[in-house]
Amino acid sequence: MLLPGLRNFFTMAPLYREKDSNNLEMRCLICGGSKSNTSARQLSIKLPEDKKEPVLYNCYRASCPSNRNGRSGGILTPEVLTKQMRCMDAETSMELAKHNKGIKWIKNSKGIIREKKGYTTFNLNNQRNKSKLEYLNKRLGWSLQTSDLKKLKIQLSLYDFLQINNIKKVPFPPNVMDMIDRYCIGFISAFDDYIIFRDISPNNILGQRYITYRINEKNTHETKIYIHPGEIDLLSPEPATITVAEGIISLFGGIYNNDLNINTPNKVFAANCGSHFTHTISSICVQYGLTNIVLNILSDSEVKRRFYDKLYRQIKDDIDIQEMIVHYNRKREDFGHRQSYIQPKRLTISSNRLYL
Ligand SMILES: [Zn+2]
Repeated sequence: MLLPGLRNFFTMAPLYREKDSNNLEMRCLICGGSKSNTSARQLSIKLPEDKKEPVLYNCYRASCPSNRNGRSGGILTPEVLTKQMRCMDAETSMELAKHNKGIKWIKNSKGIIREKKGYTTFNLNNQRNKSKLEYLNKRLGWSLQTSDLKKLKIQLSLYDFLQINNIKKVPFPPNVMDMIDRYCIGFISAFDDYIIFRDISPNNILGQRYITYRINEKNTHETKIYIHPGEIDLLSPEPATITVAEGIISLFGGIYNNDLNINTPNKVFAANCGSHFTHTISSICVQYGLTNIVLNILSDSEVKRRFYDKLYRQIKDDIDIQEMIVHYNRKREDFGHRQSYIQPKRLTISSNRLYL
């Protein structure tokens, strides 16, 4: 049996019950559970079936400290076990540390589950912002208002962002700051490390299409990837779907294009923003505790099949990939366009799925 010490620790929890031998339920060890409903078991633990799987935990109470930033629970790390679940037995936490070390993709990313700083995006409905939004609406065939941008983590004005979040440090000279504020649209990266600014001026006045602006303290695990918020149910029997594009605008075009059929439940959307696919995919798997996925890539048209065959070989031993599909847009160089400019073509790299 795997992890006997950990299993034993959970059997001592209040209202402990086994749904089956690997799925445990109990009153939450992190938040203490609901005070009004003292018979509810909100904490679920999924113990691994083999050495390659992590231990997952999830508390259904929205007010539980394990539910933050839209992510509830995740991979059980020794830190969560000792600090949040207050397991005082050093041997049990060693046992878990050893188990997690045996899982290559947790080890590679050092099992770091990132916390966000929680910066606020803020978009005034002024003329400059409206004309920037018009660029996105026109390009993607959207009809968004400035008030819709928060959920997409879009920030139109740099100066408004710095002011509302009380950020004093500025990494660029004043004239560059002015140009970013005037000509760029910002997208907040997954864990608030960066704002990825896209220059939307007709002549590309900043000289490069993307400018990465560090907003967080320098951090060894920082990442530029952008994650579009979706819902993930870790304990769902269905694999989670991860959809990755190189750039954010391409990702948006893909998400809102219904023909792609990627808008399933249990999904995460991400853009590399200069990172490698392997980094993006493993960061998401660690962050959300995913071990079993369907992978969609929204490809730029110049990237050929052999690149994705290689990517599949690089990740398939660490993550169970039920299916990997690469989508190309026949009509344009990528998916960052309105629906009438998109005609998808699917390329199956690998599939274990049975279609009935
Ligand atoms: Zn809880």
